[in-house]
Amino acid sequence: MAKKKMNFATKVIHVGGHPDKETGAIMPPIYQTTTFVQESPGKHKGYEYSRSHNPTRTRLEECLASLEEAKYALVAASGLGIISLILHSLPKGSTILCGDDVYGGTYRILTTVFNDIHDIHFINTTDPKEVEQALKSLKPKLLWLETPTNPMLKITDIKKVTALAKKYKALSVVDNTFMSSYFQKPLTLGADIVMHSMTKYLNGHSDVVGGCMMTNNKTIHQKCWTLQNSMGPSQSPFDSWLVLRGLKTLALRMEAHQKNALRVARFLESHPKVEKVIYPGLKSHPDYRLAKKQMSGFGGMITILLKGDLKKSKKFLEKVKLFALAESLGGVESLIEHPAIMTHHSIPKVVREEIGILDNLVRLSVGVEDCDDLIDDLDNALKVI
Ligand SMILES: *Cc1c(COP(=O)(O)O)cnc(C)c1O
Repeated sequence: MAKKKMNFATKVIHVGGHPDKETGAIMPPIYQTTTFVQESPGKHKGYEYSRSHNPTRTRLEECLASLEEAKYALVAASGLGIISLILHSLPKGSTILCGDDVYGGTYRILTTVFNDIHDIHFINTTDPKEVEQALKSLKPKLLWLETPTNPMLKITDIKKVTALAKKYKALSVVDNTFMSSYFQKPLTLGADIVMHSMTKYLNGHSDVVGGCMMTNNKTIHQKCWTLQNSMGPSQSPFDSWLVLRGLKTLALRMEAHQKNALRVARFLESHPKVEKVIYPGLKSHPDYRLAKKQMSGFGGMITILLKGDLKKSKKFLEKVKLFALAESLGGVESLIEHPAIMTHHSIPKVVREEIGILDNLVRLSVGVEDCDDLIDDLDNALKVI
């Protein structure tokens, strides 16, 4: 198939989606098998054992690579599985620079697992001057970026900062989970590796945990594949199939998430019980112009500060009905959560508060339901404050 000429909404449906050779089935088979029969010892069709390779997973990897305009993709059993592979691929004792406002699990794996293996430093990646200073003085092997950040939705200038990393010979990784491949393409902006928790927007239906990384660097790809094969966090064929299925509507879903999120953000911004709304698509966002420049949309995540204390915030979160009180994000259904108690609890309180994750801060993952119903739900729950 002529992959290069296709546009995004066509790629999600067709790349990796060729009809089954044996039967003509239009949907890819779930190759639910551990092993593959060989014609003669070592003579096979490219598949030996499903921890190493599986044809359903291969199809998913083909599709993901094309969505990020990458040569290579690797799928693992979770986003953190992918993060582990990337961090293990570095020589022991490497210096790593990481954004200071990243996903709680990323912070945890760096401070409780990889702190024994590497030298980890957290910096404010939204400030290119601070990044350059750190690159110059610490000479890191890797720069880890997350943009927009979780949950503060701060934006890092990917082009500027990855160019600086290149100048000081550090590899750069962008966690692109929040924007999905639809709204942001970090490799085209200069990053060496892009990764996602597929658990979120890529699968989009809150029924699979998974992760992926895409790159144009063959050495990095092969190193990470070898580690996956040796350490074992491969994704099951059925889960890969579900993501392949979920991806088909990625373009449609992201447009719907963004449309709803913008309306919800504007509603909340004008609500007297809300102190502040953080959404990159609002002109009030400090990085609105940068967001507009490097992203082709603003996504479905909103962070708000309520007018009230912890008790009032809890009441509000108990009162919402359509917005389910749950961790995670990126599914078709709307979710709401309290980062200080839920997703970001593993970050020490002082660090959390320094970043701005306060007791009245609430994070929304706006789904694709009818927006009037979502606004009614929030309006109703805000009455308790
Ligand atoms: C969820 C998430 C991860 C971790 O992925 P899992 O699939 O839960 O292991 C990493 N980064 C971001 C931004 C996430 O939201």
